[in-house]
Amino acid sequence: MTKEDIKPLADTAEKKLAGQFAELDKICEKNTEKVLHAFHRFKVSEAMLHGSTGYGYDDRGRDVLDEIYADVFDCEDALVRHHFVSGTHVLATALYGVLRPGDTLLSVSGNPYDTLLETIGVTGEPGGGSLKDFGIQFKKTELLPNGDFDYGAVEKEIKNDPSIRMIFVQRSRGYTQRPTISLEKMEAFFTFVKNLTDAVIMVDNCYGEFAAEKEPTAVGADLIAGSLIKNPGGGLAQTGGYIAGRKDLIEKCAYRLTAVGIGKECGASLSQLRYLYQGFFMAPHTVLQAMKTAVFAAALFSEMGFAVSPSPEEKREDIIQTITFGKEKPLIAFCRGIQAGAPIDSYVVPEPWAMPGYSDPVIMAAGSFVSGASIELSADAPIKPPYTVYFQGGLTYHSGKLAIIKALQMLTEEAQEPVQ
Ligand SMILES: *Cc1c(COP(=O)(O)O)cnc(C)c1O
Repeated sequence: MTKEDIKPLADTAEKKLAGQFAELDKICEKNTEKVLHAFHRFKVSEAMLHGSTGYGYDDRGRDVLDEIYADVFDCEDALVRHHFVSGTHVLATALYGVLRPGDTLLSVSGNPYDTLLETIGVTGEPGGGSLKDFGIQFKKTELLPNGDFDYGAVEKEIKNDPSIRMIFVQRSRGYTQRPTISLEKMEAFFTFVKNLTDAVIMVDNCYGEFAAEKEPTAVGADLIAGSLIKNPGGGLAQTGGYIAGRKDLIEKCAYRLTAVGIGKECGASLSQLRYLYQGFFMAPHTVLQAMKTAVFAAALFSEMGFAVSPSPEEKREDIIQTITFGKEKPLIAFCRGIQAGAPIDSYVVPEPWAMPGYSDPVIMAAGSFVSGASIELSADAPIKPPYTVYFQGGLTYHSGKLAIIKALQMLTEEAQEPVQ
């Protein structure tokens, strides 16, 4: 199919989405209002954007940014730092910050994100300093097939094991086909859990920020964490992460990030604050662009007969979209199309390759201004049945839409080629 052939299909898909887009617009407006309100409340000034050097004492801009995150996320305190190297580092800091030898970590949404397994000590060699090395045990309960928490199994674990000190939830789906855990589901479940235990409720909030009108901290989570090169950095943050939640817990996390006794008082913000402030200001809008791109792709590809999740009509609470191709060739063609539609490195042709830690070759498409930033349009897939691509991001809806059209074009051109 040529671009001209696809255009009417894209127009039809887009027309059907008007209602959906209007709903997403409302969420964006609400979140923008919250962010703006916080900027006003804390009197953000031009001087706060300049940053500090050395020890970073009395860095007003850094401290106020923490307060702004806490205000917008409806919690007591936050730790927003460019010093976090990745989402995994943020989550690990929170786990080490809160858990102590003899404690048990109970994950209630199955295994946490792949990269945390070594931190926890599920994989990897002993002696590296995993939680397990420090005498912190790990247990998990799976989500039910319909995506609900397994209340019975969780209750049993909590009643039988008084060492459970943290209940861990991953909001977004990660590399699985399960649905995102909605805030409604979290609210009911957290109320239930709080009646059983005073364990800390922690949510891996990656990809979830600003996808709904609230964050998990507004419905009972004690701690949330995420990456700044995903949603809350708004596409402008160059690196970093945040933890938000109860003040006593944030202090422990800050002790872990720097040193016990120092905590939040040190840490030069260098020249990063302008990006972090402007990025957070942009974030509701940027997330809207990514969500519209995902909804558009869901509509166009389901129109073409592919299985998509979430469906175009489904209420979504993160920015991830999957498309299942059933075959290797269209999957690879899709990823090449996404790459070809990127603003940076568009001429690069992604190839599947063997990545450490994965049992199958993986193909990745990303052409971003900030290296590896997945709030920018990016796609990846393990080369194995049922040949599902996971993609997310898109700094602007129109560029995202054009890349999706390009991906469909490359995929259909591929299908025209004679079979080798
Ligand atoms: C991205 C992500 C992480 C880890 O973030 P990295 O920056 O890749 O280390 C953890 N959990 C979830 C759900 C994620 O999406």
